[in-house]
Amino acid sequence: MNPASPGALTPAQAVSELCPHCGFCCNGVLFADVRIPDPSEAATLRKLHVPLRGQPGRWRLPQPCPCLNGQLCSVYALRPERCRTFSCGLLQRLIQGRLSPDQARAIVQRARAALAKVEQALAALGQATANRPLQDRVTHALARPLDLSRPGVIPARQRLMRAMEQLHRILAVEFLTPEGAKAPERPARHPQKE
Ligand code: SF4
Ligand code: SF4
Repeated sequence: MNPASPGALTPAQAVSELCPHCGFCCNGVLFADVRIPDPSEAATLRKLHVPLRGQPGRWRLPQPCPCLNGQLCSVYALRPERCRTFSCGLLQRLIQGRLSPDQARAIVQRARAALAKVEQALAALGQATANRPLQDRVTHALARPLDLSRPGVIPARQRLMRAMEQLHRILAVEFLTPEGAKAPERPARHPQKE
C-alpha cells in the first residue's frame, strides 16, 4: 500500500487516533484470552475484582475483557504487561507512517462491517450473546446439530461462514501481521485520553 501523505506518529498518538475506534484486541474478536504469567499482576487484577481463569502462574484474562468499557481500557494504569506491549499490525503501520490515520480507521471500519455481518448471522442462529470469544461463538453455532425444521437455518449458516471468512481475511492481513507480533511497547487505551 502506498499511503497518500502519512507521517509517523508516536505510539501514544497512534493509539489515540485508532484504538478507540477498534477494540478488537480486547473484545474477543482477535483473542480468546490474555496470559497473565506474573503473579503480582494477577493479584492486582484480582484485587480489582477482575475475574481471571486458570491457576497460579497460569492465569488468563478472558476475552471479551471485563475491563473493557466501550472501546477503552478501564484499568489503564494497572493493565497487564501483555496489554502494554501489544500492538497489532495496523497500529504498527500507523506508528511507522505507512498508513495515515484515515486509512487505518477505514480498515477498522471495513473490519467492523464484516463483524456486523458475522453478528447478524450469529443472531439468526441463536448465538447473539457476546460474552464469549467470537471464534468460540462461531464454532459453537456451526457445531450444533442441524435443525432442518427451523426455516432459514442453512442460509444462515452459509452467511455465517461467508462473513467469518471475510472477517478472518481482514484480521489476518491487516491486524495479525508479523509487525504486530514483534511490536514494541504500546501505551494502552486510557479512558481519559480522549
Ligand atoms: S491495538 Fe490494534 S486491535 Fe488493538 S485496539 Fe488498537 S487498532 Fe485495534
Ligand atoms: S488493555 Fe485493558 S481492556 Fe484490553 S485486554 Fe488489557 S486489561 Fe483488558
